Amino acid sequence: GVRPDEDLLEGLNRPQRDAVTFRGQALLIVAGAGSGKTSVLTRRVASLLRTKDAWPSQILAITFTNKAAGEMRERVSQLIGDRAQGMWISTFHSACVRILRREAEQFGFTKSFTIYDSGDSRALIKRLVKEHEADTYGMTPSGVMSRISKLKNELADAESYARSANMTDPAERIFVELFADYQRSLQKANAFDFDDLIGQVVYLFRAFPQVADSYRRRFRHILVDEYQDTNHAQYALIRELTRPPGSDAPPMAGGGGMMIFDAEPDAEDGASLTVVGDSDQSIYAFRGADIRNITEFERDYPGAKVVLLEQNYRSTQNILNAANAVISHNFDRKDKKLWTDVGEGEKIIGFTGYSQHDEAQFVADETEALRKAGIDYSQMAVFYRTNSQSRALEEIFIRSAVPYKIMGGTKFYERAEIKDALAYLVAVANPADEMAVRRILNKPRRGIGDVTETAIARYAADEGITFRDALANASALGVGPKIQAGIAHLDAVLAEASALMVPSTGELPPPTAVADGLQLLLSKTGYTDALRASRDPQDEARVENLDELVAVAREFARNNPEGTIVDFLTEVALVSDADDLEDASGSVSLMTMHTAKGLEYDAVFVTGVEEDLIPHRISANEPGGPQEERRLFYVGVTRARKRLYLSLAMTRAQFGEVTVAMPSRFLQEIPTELMHWRQSPGDVNSRGGTQSRALNARRGGPGSSGGFGGGGNTGRYGADLVPLPRRESSDISKFANRIPAKVRDNGDMELGPGDRIRHDDFGEGKVDLVTGEGAKRVAHVRFDRVGAKKLLIKIAPIEKL
Ligand code: ATP
Ligand code: MG
Repeated sequence: GVRPDEDLLEGLNRPQRDAVTFRGQALLIVAGAGSGKTSVLTRRVASLLRTKDAWPSQILAITFTNKAAGEMRERVSQLIGDRAQGMWISTFHSACVRILRREAEQFGFTKSFTIYDSGDSRALIKRLVKEHEADTYGMTPSGVMSRISKLKNELADAESYARSANMTDPAERIFVELFADYQRSLQKANAFDFDDLIGQVVYLFRAFPQVADSYRRRFRHILVDEYQDTNHAQYALIRELTRPPGSDAPPMAGGGGMMIFDAEPDAEDGASLTVVGDSDQSIYAFRGADIRNITEFERDYPGAKVVLLEQNYRSTQNILNAANAVISHNFDRKDKKLWTDVGEGEKIIGFTGYSQHDEAQFVADETEALRKAGIDYSQMAVFYRTNSQSRALEEIFIRSAVPYKIMGGTKFYERAEIKDALAYLVAVANPADEMAVRRILNKPRRGIGDVTETAIARYAADEGITFRDALANASALGVGPKIQAGIAHLDAVLAEASALMVPSTGELPPPTAVADGLQLLLSKTGYTDALRASRDPQDEARVENLDELVAVAREFARNNPEGTIVDFLTEVALVSDADDLEDASGSVSLMTMHTAKGLEYDAVFVTGVEEDLIPHRISANEPGGPQEERRLFYVGVTRARKRLYLSLAMTRAQFGEVTVAMPSRFLQEIPTELMHWRQSPGDVNSRGGTQSRALNARRGGPGSSGGFGGGGNTGRYGADLVPLPRRESSDISKFANRIPAKVRDNGDMELGPGDRIRHDDFGEGKVDLVTGEGAKRVAHVRFDRVGAKKLLIKIAPIEKL
């Protein structure tokens, strides 16, 4: 008969089919870039559902970014229809947050714990470094932070580290104390840092076998994309989840004998595990990724099936040959060759600019030419090794009116005013988070200085209450009346916001509670007014950013009518670089090569292909560094479908100085016949060997008119450029498509029981009841497709039928 998943296998090659239809315990798919690893994983999920070998709720699929998760979910839905509901498709971090929110109470946290991002962790560590006087031993907050992070990725804690450390060394002792103190502070603040999200779930599973078992029974099929970049903690998590349920009853002394406690007769197997990866694309060793997770998979999961994919469906043969040639210079790899049947394609285009502006102008002009040739801007991407390289590209793109989006880079959520606003929300959601409360204590200015802050902390310690509760007792602090009034006001506003956003148990806050509460906090504390009153032009941009955040909260409410303040904070905390990609439609995407992982574009520009950039100069001293840089370059090159450009600049202004750049060694590793140089390094040099130095000298002088292109010896890319002011609100644009063009106002829509409406997301439904008044009117609607929902009439995307 015909397989129920026959249509899902259409167009797949033999090994791809094998991977999709395999039904054993462990499957490893190793393959080069663009060979369909992610596609196969997606189809495998669809096939498991279609053949009824799995219910949606039994599937846990792990992707590298939230965006990739969204795409996979959508693709599976397309393939099999709406049954994709209930599956867990997410990043490691999101999956672990979900588990922790359910289980936190088992080990001393509450559901509303805060997630500390790296900025938060650094702030906390900075304070502790000071308190422990660790700086006298040459420790810096960043140094301590990365050491702690590395240890956590190895699942080490302060105690286990101390056992292996040389504790006669005072610096080691201080570090151990600091690490332990950091962990205590997190626990006290009811907070997890990023590494904890994974590590604490592993801890939870090991400490509470019955909790682990409930997830082992639930997730019967686990699939992990980009497995080459998993670290030890992630590896351990997968190990825990794939054990047979009931398998970690405490080991019996002497072993054997007491079979009565062993597996029940109908013991289940562990979940089936599928991992896909490419060791040539392992680019996160610096963050603890361990390639052995892939190379030793067959040892860890005996009997695993291994599928190799070698046909590439993404790129032309020229692009693949270049990628193969470069990566074959890594000595520590198994040789594998990618091939394609789409043909040679165009040659790879090389370009050498005199300066990075010159290089950027070339890129901008080429994007224009490509667009005229029928390639959409959204199908073009420009990569660079470090974020700082985007500056020159942006300047030229703005001048040349080429629409672009920066992915990652200046991050919206790292801006001071956004962090302040989020700290206000955290202070409401998780009052135990002392750092959040301290952050907003004197923002805006309330006359609360260090002395008062210390007094509050001391009072809290003396009374055994939280810092937040100490605020509520301002009168007992013995501070001046003006300061006392300031504290009392802050306390009152926080309490008011809390009443709005965190209602008593069982009661559902209105969907707009988060946005309304945020607005209330920003206005009643006088935060926004203080910015408005400022003469600093940047403060205007800050107000815009805050408006943007409120809009993000409104949109969140629209998409998650029952989403709470904790859900909102979670979503914000887990936004990653790559997730900005969502709204790149109609513009060229600019990003680092790290962010580019897993993506593909018709045309790709890899810029700054110079020694000290790629390979980056910091890699020279790291063991395995240059190899990792080569893999990163390989990742960049293999993103291209049809057109690949490799460009560099002879001189580059960086870190405040102008340096003469050398072409990257990776360029020399590409066979010359694959490339067509529009302007080669030789062309540039032959125009006078001393030119670049002469140009450097001229660059600094303000008002130098001719600039790089002066002297009549350069082409159209020579014009010198006066740097443009940085656009303050440029990073707002990345939200442009996520936010409704205008916030809807149905304030005066007359609705009553029996009326029919149509909602943008939920479709048609019938109004059962209308409650509340004015701006707070709520329609209780029974939707034909999704059932009962409560909607705030004023802003819900609805129309009356
Ligand atoms: P990377 O290593 O970059 O993550 P990958 O191995 O995950 O790449 P995919 O992104 O799944 O590869 O696939 C690359 C491209 O090839 C996609 O556009 C995908 O749709 C296409 N593709 C994969 N398999 C086939 C096939 N059998 N027939 C046609 N196109 C395919
Ligand atoms: Mg992939």
